[in-house]
Parts: sequence; C-alpha cells; structure tokens
Amino acid sequence: MIRVLVWNENRHEQTSEHIARVYPEGIHGAIASYLRQSPDLQVSTATQDEPEHGLTEARLAETDVLVYWCHIAQADFSDEIVARVHQRILSGMGAVFLHSACVGKLFGKLMGTTGQIKWREAGEKSRVWVVAPGHRIVEGLPEYFEIEHEEMYGEPFDIPAPDELVFISWFPGGEVCRSGCCYTRGQGKIFYFQPGHETYPVYYHEQVLRVIANAAH
Ligand code: ZN
Repeated sequence: MIRVLVWNENRHEQTSEHIARVYPEGIHGAIASYLRQSPDLQVSTATQDEPEHGLTEARLAETDVLVYWCHIAQADFSDEIVARVHQRILSGMGAVFLHSACVGKLFGKLMGTTGQIKWREAGEKSRVWVVAPGHRIVEGLPEYFEIEHEEMYGEPFDIPAPDELVFISWFPGGEVCRSGCCYTRGQGKIFYFQPGHETYPVYYHEQVLRVIANAAH
C-alpha cells in the first residue's frame, strides 16, 4: 500500500460560497475521493487549520506521498512546519504540488526560486500536451487532453529546469507553460502539476485526477 496524504489549505472553501459549491468536500475531498478508487492507495486528508497544520511528525512518518494545494494563507503557515516537511521530503517522502502551490513556501524552499508565473483568471480552455510519452505519470492518457475552464498559467515560470518535463500546457491567448515537472531533492521525488484553480471544477476532471493518481504511484 502507498500511504497518500492529501493536504489542502482549505480557506477558499470556507470564505467563498461559490467555491464551497464547486468543492463541497473541499479540494482535498474531491482529490481524495478519486484516489480512494485505487486499491493500492491508502488515502487520508489534512488541512491547514488542524493542529500543526495536520502535518505532525507522526503523520509525516506514516506518509509516503504528500499531495499539496495552497494559495492564500501562506503567511499563516508555520516556517517550522515548512522545515519539517522539507526535511521529510529530503529523506524520501514523495510530494505532488498542485497549481498555486508553486508560490508556496515549501515548494520555494525545495526549488530555490520564487515559483512566480504569469496568470489570467478568465475560465479559458487549456490543452495539456504530453511531452514525455511512456513516463509513468502519463499512463492511460491520450497525446493531449483539454480542460474546458481553467486559469491561464504562462511562461515565464520561475522554476529550475525540471529533471523531467512531462506536460506543456497551451492557452487560447497563445501562452504556454511547463505544466508537469519532475524533480528530485535528496531522496524525495517531487512532481509539480499546474491544473487546478479553486473556482473551476478542475479536480473532477477524469484525466487531471488520473495524473495525480499516477504521480502518487
Ligand atoms: Zn488559481
């Protein structure tokens, strides 16, 4: 069994009626309910407002893969816990960073860059191209898939050159971005995946969820 912890900041869901309607179980709930369909994944969830942000030493010790979503509440996120999770990744825990987690403290500490990216919230279509056919993360996917309503994320994207680039996404404004990026830090395997804005139902999209499940594996 692979023990997966789906972690979500879970603030938008509490402060916006619209977002609460899109994700009544929270973004973490939507992702976890899909991952639970995989018999070899043992899935739990945690959110920022739990004691120690739900990321205690004991919890991390029994986690093989952390799936991580954050956006607006990083100022309230403890630097001590950033350091703790960072250390756990270096000692071998996998981590899947989703969407705006690229500008979070933890991803920044791992990458050494700001993670800043161009963005536009206009509900545009995104076409996600597979650029590493045969990679475990793209198993079961066609050569591209589309997300009907997505936030545009575009280059330049302030990240280190990925060890492996798995996806490039295209948007109708002509922008592109490196939307699926693999890294290793210490013994930890890290995957960044761009799809997933909080106001659109991206975490119900079959192929987006498939990518997250593949990445956990
Ligand atoms: Zn967003």
